[in-house]
Amino acid sequence: MSQPPLSANGARVLADLNALRAIGAYKSGVHKPTFSEPHLASLKWLLAKLPEAGLTGAIDGIGNVLTRSEKAGPKLLAGSHLESQNHAGWLDGPLGVVYALEAARVLNTDPAVAGSVELAAWCDEEGHFGQFLGSRSYVGAVAEAEIDAARDRTSGRSMREALKAAGLAGIARGSAEPGRHIGYLEAHIEQGRILQSEGLKIGVVTSIVGIWQYRITFSGEQNHAGTTRMTDRRDAGLALARFCVAIDARFPEICGPRTVWTTGRITLDPGAPSIIPGRAEMLFQMRDADAAVVARLEAALQTMADEVNAQGRCSVTVECLRKGAPAIMDDKFQQAIEAASASIAPGKSLRMPSGAGHDAQVLATIMPAGMLFVPSIGGISHHWTENTSDEDIATGAEVFVEACRRLLMS
Ligand SMILES: [Zn+2]
Repeated sequence: MSQPPLSANGARVLADLNALRAIGAYKSGVHKPTFSEPHLASLKWLLAKLPEAGLTGAIDGIGNVLTRSEKAGPKLLAGSHLESQNHAGWLDGPLGVVYALEAARVLNTDPAVAGSVELAAWCDEEGHFGQFLGSRSYVGAVAEAEIDAARDRTSGRSMREALKAAGLAGIARGSAEPGRHIGYLEAHIEQGRILQSEGLKIGVVTSIVGIWQYRITFSGEQNHAGTTRMTDRRDAGLALARFCVAIDARFPEICGPRTVWTTGRITLDPGAPSIIPGRAEMLFQMRDADAAVVARLEAALQTMADEVNAQGRCSVTVECLRKGAPAIMDDKFQQAIEAASASIAPGKSLRMPSGAGHDAQVLATIMPAGMLFVPSIGGISHHWTENTSDEDIATGAEVFVEACRRLLMS
């Protein structure tokens, strides 16, 4: 009789996650900015674990932990990140790294599995120095000049200085070997409340939203707030406020079911109570998994700007600052996660897009990629109270390891 396949050890996964939480602990979460002492200590903690998983590895010249397995057969790349946002939660990042470590521990040492999991911890997913610098470096999308220019958004320290202090200056950056991996799988906390509110255990990510960002600038006439009659005014601030309200009226008629939009910053110039603003600027962002939806919204934004300009009181320009294409998750990967979930937690999975960015969207540019989510209690993330129940963490680990097995054996 054949033995049942080996599966994830939930207690071991929780012990590892708690060990990582103890490095750079902040309340019940962690404070591990990129290249901080606790971040580097976490990378070293991971290196020390690799032999248990039949892996060798090192930290490369941009702070990625990259590993290799000598086992014959197909290779699956899996991982996430170990740095955190400032004063943030213990699972955003480490969960995916520890699941990948667990998958490597279970599958790489099992002779019944032809193939292995190679683990990666991507540097700076949280964007202290840039946007997905570690994973983008791995796929060949980061030039040296970008690293030269990168600075820590909190401390202002240059990335070159940080790399030098970490002992990583002059070390080569690792890059993807074409054809080495059958794809990339990443687990993450949902960071939303859909799974919890529906009583589900696993999110099967269908796509990762694209992010489009705009600077919308209004020009009017700066003037005295006491002597200028209301009818004579060309108030750029008022035009901006009306524009925000108009967006909220117009967009719901043409957006997709999960489109979100945000005015994240408003600046009035000169910004004084006794001066009518002559200039006003808003930073506006929208996210959707469907590029066609965003194209429609962008066109509406321009039409609304044209309407403001036609009225002639104030003028407005819409400038696109960032165009992020959505990343579609590979169908075979979605099926593997769904099948693994059906075998471990029947009826408890849901296909859903990711509203947050992840390294998987970068890896998806060069290989098939997939993601699975576990529930976030109250949907809270990027805060030290971020949490997932121990039971859900253990279930997620089992599904992740089983999904890796199915991908390697298919
Ligand atoms: Zn994350």
